Amino acid sequence: MTIAIQELTPFQEVNLFLDDSAERLGLADGLRQMLRQPWRELKVQVPVRMDNGRVEVFTGYRVQHNGARGPYKGGVRYHLQADADEVRALASLMTWKNALVDVPFGGAKGSVQCDPSQLSESELNRLTRRYTLNIEHLLAPNRDIPAPDMGTNAQTMAWMMDAYGQIHGHCPAIVTGKPVEMGGSLGREAATGRGVALILQEAAIDLNIDLDAIRIVIQGHGNVGSWAAQILYDSGCSIIALSDVGGGIHNPKGLDLSQIAQNKAAGISLSEYPHGERVTNAELLELDCDVLIPAAIDNVINTDNAPRIKARLIAEAANHPVTFGADQILNDRGITILPDILVNAGGVTVSYFEWTQNLQEFRWEEERVNEELRKVMSKAYRAVHEKVVSEGINYRQAAFDIGVGRVARAVNLRGFV
Ligand code: NAD
Repeated sequence: MTIAIQELTPFQEVNLFLDDSAERLGLADGLRQMLRQPWRELKVQVPVRMDNGRVEVFTGYRVQHNGARGPYKGGVRYHLQADADEVRALASLMTWKNALVDVPFGGAKGSVQCDPSQLSESELNRLTRRYTLNIEHLLAPNRDIPAPDMGTNAQTMAWMMDAYGQIHGHCPAIVTGKPVEMGGSLGREAATGRGVALILQEAAIDLNIDLDAIRIVIQGHGNVGSWAAQILYDSGCSIIALSDVGGGIHNPKGLDLSQIAQNKAAGISLSEYPHGERVTNAELLELDCDVLIPAAIDNVINTDNAPRIKARLIAEAANHPVTFGADQILNDRGITILPDILVNAGGVTVSYFEWTQNLQEFRWEEERVNEELRKVMSKAYRAVHEKVVSEGINYRQAAFDIGVGRVARAVNLRGFV
């Protein structure tokens, strides 16, 4: 399918991937319309008393995209750009991702439009509690279960759990990605990055790539990027460039990830790493490398820079880092893209393990978590790869076809329509 694409919103773009899949699957028109729209969305005011005594009013969202396969599940993002359209796009991706890795969840996403780096710890605590109270009537362990995303973390989930618990009583299964001390799962913090590494390792075999001999570039050094970088580095890969919001560092001979991790723990910024050249985030994406892993924000690879991307393989650790138009350009150029709904599904997979542990009031050993994660990611990758080979479609198309097909079957079985 070739479409002239300019100025589309993230949700329109995700729906183009859906339409492409619905066409191949031959879905009925009414069903397509259902899958294109969120089931329910809520916009809330989030007033916060700031440390200086003034009241600031933020906007929050919770979008429940599709619940045919189980309770709504998806992260909460604190970011200025996370408006209704972006949250819809991310909620839709969660629906297809959860179906692809076959965890029993529907898709959702939430946000508060704020810059968390400009808020103090106590302001973030108050903002999180107010947001939770304002969306609380949509949540329950068998209805909708939030998790961390960009700008939020385990501490945010502890505040959400506490705010929800003040109304409903102790309820760890209401959020995942919590601190381990609060019922979080061992292995959850590293899970998304670990999943990225697992998918890359699986794909390397099929694509005839020797991971020990290649150069990897990673954009983003937050939860996902830092764990993916560390796990790949520990397994012998060379990471030649890494960035955060302030820019990146590049050394074609490879970065010393142990030193970078130590610096991060000591609060020393990436830009102060002495053994590399500084690059902007835009330059980083176009570096000469074999594998590019965008692990920060959406839309970073677009029709402007797609013709200049030099990597032969892109593993989408972030959600929707490649626009629909860039996807077409990269496919035409023969660059393989491993899609977000496969690559970053490790987080929600271990969130599922966390939720089941909470419901059973039982705790798994970290080895068990990691082994079960490996099995789920490997099975999902194999299913996608087999479709790529048997149907001659690309990895994103195969992943969407599996996810969309499963959701469509669940909708029909429930007799929604
Ligand atoms: P995070 O907040 O922990 O880290 C984000 C990183 O991106 C930071 O290093 C930040 O400095 C950098 N960044 C922010 N704005 C940037 C910009 N404009 N340009 C370049 N870098 C920028 O977030 P995260 O949890 O690591 O999430 C990263 C991506 O992975 C998001 O797309 C998120 O939706 C996706 N994801 C996260 C999880 C999870 O478990 N955390 C799961 C699935 C997908």
